[in-house]
Amino acid sequence: MKRTITHLADGRELFYFDRQDDADRSAVDKRDLPPRPPASELRYDPLTEEWIAVAGHRQGRTFLPPTSECPLCPSTPGHLTEIPSSSYDVAVFENRFPSFSAQPVEYEQVGGLSEVRPGTGRCEVVCFTSDHDSSFSALSPEQVELVMEAWIDRTAELSALPGVEQVFCFENRGPEIGITLAHPHGQIYAYPYVTPRTKLTLGAAERHRERTGGNLFADVLAAEREAGTRVVASNEHWTAFVPAAARWPVEVHLYPHRQVPDLLALESSERAAFGPLYTEVLRRLDGLFGVPMPYIAAWHQAPVNVGRDLSYAHLELFSIRRAPDKLKYLAGSESAMGAFVNDVLPENTARLLRSVITD
Ligand SMILES: [Zn+2]
Repeated sequence: MKRTITHLADGRELFYFDRQDDADRSAVDKRDLPPRPPASELRYDPLTEEWIAVAGHRQGRTFLPPTSECPLCPSTPGHLTEIPSSSYDVAVFENRFPSFSAQPVEYEQVGGLSEVRPGTGRCEVVCFTSDHDSSFSALSPEQVELVMEAWIDRTAELSALPGVEQVFCFENRGPEIGITLAHPHGQIYAYPYVTPRTKLTLGAAERHRERTGGNLFADVLAAEREAGTRVVASNEHWTAFVPAAARWPVEVHLYPHRQVPDLLALESSERAAFGPLYTEVLRRLDGLFGVPMPYIAAWHQAPVNVGRDLSYAHLELFSIRRAPDKLKYLAGSESAMGAFVNDVLPENTARLLRSVITD
């Protein structure tokens, strides 16, 4: 594996991750780019004790351009993109329209019990493949391993940045989810705080440990493997199951069998075993209704500074599609109260996913 770092015309960093050690990544970004936008500002919501990032500049970002204008394809003489090289395996670069960044920002305190501070952090884009028409589910095991190397490399570096408290690798897939670029890609957010969801689950994990002495996530995985009714697929190192209290009509969690705080701690055999199982699960999702499944795939990793001993790295994958022609929208109960109502029995979802013929 070869890692090359270079800079785009406006100073943002770009990383190539290549399978071949002799890959030539000397191409230079020849575009004339405007200066980078200021960082966002963070506003504190005293009612929920959560930070909200306010980034006015993101309204102007690129929205579903035609394939010929895709900014994530390799550059050609007539079409210069975010990736100057004429080819790549995996490429990662700083988002041009970031929710968090190290750029300076001018802001004022706004009163109303809401503290304001700069949205320090970083947002990166991960291009999974140079093939515009591919998808994560179609990647080879070797290509998934390279993506995993990129996630690990970026998690380590972003965790070391000043002020960063949590690193989140994820993929939004499908126009139904709200993606703005069709090219197969994911994102990495380096947050300047521990996210609400992580705070909540680590609180539960702490109480579980006080009560039982065990690790909450490990105990959930063991119970799901023993029950078996919601297991979708597994191999030597990973198990994929529908959680017993799934919120979404389609929801699958993938856990390594060994408790690790983050992807960095996975051994090479565990890293290698992830791709075959995950792409199988994705193909089962696509096969469920016979149409490409819109989804969100979210890596849960330990925060940088707290709760590392309680954490258990895993992937949570879910979709808003509940039927071939129906989407679940987050309406009153979910959006206003955070109280989920799922119209699909998790055991049925698991059974249907198991019955999909994948090849
Ligand atoms: Zn593309």
